[in-house]
Amino acid sequence: MSTDKKPNGYVPMMTGLAKAKCPRCRRGDIFASGTYSFTGQKMHEKCSHCGLYYEREPGYWYVAMFVSYALNVAEMVTAAVALHILTGSDSPWVYVGVLLGIIFILSPFNYRYSRVILLYWLTPGLHYEPERAKDKHGEQSIM
Ligand SMILES: [Zn+2]
Repeated sequence: MSTDKKPNGYVPMMTGLAKAKCPRCRRGDIFASGTYSFTGQKMHEKCSHCGLYYEREPGYWYVAMFVSYALNVAEMVTAAVALHILTGSDSPWVYVGVLLGIIFILSPFNYRYSRVILLYWLTPGLHYEPERAKDKHGEQSIM
């Protein structure tokens, strides 16, 4: 256990990433709906806690496509190796069928976490700012 004092509202990086929280304050939600929501995944335009606009510039989310590609490749290689070890099958149809199913099942997960990884690790100049994570006690928004 760590005994050093964490600032008010501190959220560890992996917790913030796993829960898809704002990369700057790790308090506000990035998505308005769940990963496997039937209504689709709706994103908030900006953070409800610190006001960060998630779409950093026009076309920003195109970069998430490359992150999604990397996630898909890692998942497919892992699944194919696991399938070979578990079944030992030489039939390509076993691999095609199972991998297509896995791609379909994991696509909402990849959609969400490709954007979250882009925001957390691949955006220059966007970092965690513990000062922004603090609770807003006694402050009134002037808007
Ligand atoms: Zn925020």
